[in-house]
Amino acid sequence: MSTAAEHHDDPVFTGPGGPATRLYLARTKEQPVDLDRIARAVREILAAVGENPDREGLSETPPRVARAYAELLSGLHDNPERHLSRVFSHAAPGEDLVVVRNIDFQSMCEHHLLPFRGKAHVAYLPANGKVVGLSKIARTVDVFARRPQLQERLTANVADAITEHLGARGVAVVVTAEHLCMQLRGARKQTADMVTTALRGVLADDEAMKRQALLMLSGNAF
Ligand SMILES: [Zn+2]
Repeated sequence: MSTAAEHHDDPVFTGPGGPATRLYLARTKEQPVDLDRIARAVREILAAVGENPDREGLSETPPRVARAYAELLSGLHDNPERHLSRVFSHAAPGEDLVVVRNIDFQSMCEHHLLPFRGKAHVAYLPANGKVVGLSKIARTVDVFARRPQLQERLTANVADAITEHLGARGVAVVVTAEHLCMQLRGARKQTADMVTTALRGVLADDEAMKRQALLMLSGNAF
């Protein structure tokens, strides 16, 4: 196998942590994704654009794309409850916000099947001191990012999952992302990014708490 081929088989899309990404890959192999069917479809696309899918450089591309798609869309076969049910009790339950910022994610625009990538920022107000580890919030973002997705829905999915599975009294999620479908085609705006927010519970209803949460999430509170 050539160096180039080995490079392409590497997991180029990394999650919030290296070891976690490897776990994802291991799980992906057991997921009910029909790799052969994806590969057949990719061959069809290559032929349809006027390429020869059998030429040397492209012959291994369909199965390689299939494996990449299985990884990029592996969130379809994962669920947030698995991560968010591992709660522990905060020693001093109170009115303190928990804030996790700058969670990297990669997702797939469901309108163009082109990637969008960015950062998620999450704040929640625990109920009865019930909190989860930092990495569980990042995993939850990945569960919803690794699907055919819209940024608006990704933002809402994360807020709803933390509300439902953690029982948080309030949740605020801010997502900023760049969309390749916007940068490479259509309007071709290279520098535009999109910001979406989802507010739930107390952080939607209480103006002062909402302002505090959004200030912390935007990075202007320090
Ligand atoms: Zn798009």
